[in-house]
Amino acid sequence: MKFDSSNISTNKNAINKIRKIWQKSEKKILKEIGNLTGLAIKTNSITCHIDDSTTNGLYGKNSITLGVKGGISADDVRMVIAHELFHIFYWKKLKKMCLTKSSPGKESKQEWNLAEVAAFLLTNEPSLKKCWPNAQVCLYPKTKSTCKKVKQFWKQGDIGYFLAQSYKILK
Ligand SMILES: [Zn+2]
Repeated sequence: MKFDSSNISTNKNAINKIRKIWQKSEKKILKEIGNLTGLAIKTNSITCHIDDSTTNGLYGKNSITLGVKGGISADDVRMVIAHELFHIFYWKKLKKMCLTKSSPGKESKQEWNLAEVAAFLLTNEPSLKKCWPNAQVCLYPKTKSTCKKVKQFWKQGDIGYFLAQSYKILK
């Protein structure tokens, strides 16, 4: 994965520090995401923009943004990057399965909720949480009812099953 900065005020040291944190654990994290979902996440063509004007994480087609405003812990670096990377490959899987005509940013509210629930269920799995023991893995309050409905479909190693079943009840 490439790292760069979205704004001039983020200095090279900060970028290098974050790059090192991620690179040290990337292999382990991606392998574990693979075990838990069946997704093969490759980061060669992905760029991580580091942005110190926001605290949010974002994702695009081949890029993610890591907001570092006010400072960010190593655990949060790992957790947020994993979360955003997962979103990219989650959407690739949805498209491959022909479950949606939407695209990220133009998805329905329910689809957005489901994507966040999936990212939550993943990043809260004990085997992955070991990589960010002190990070707070939160579920957006507005997605709680979706979580209740689809949690039953979450099973290790098979995100396809989760998506197929969840989309059935979303519609
Ligand atoms: Zn998200």
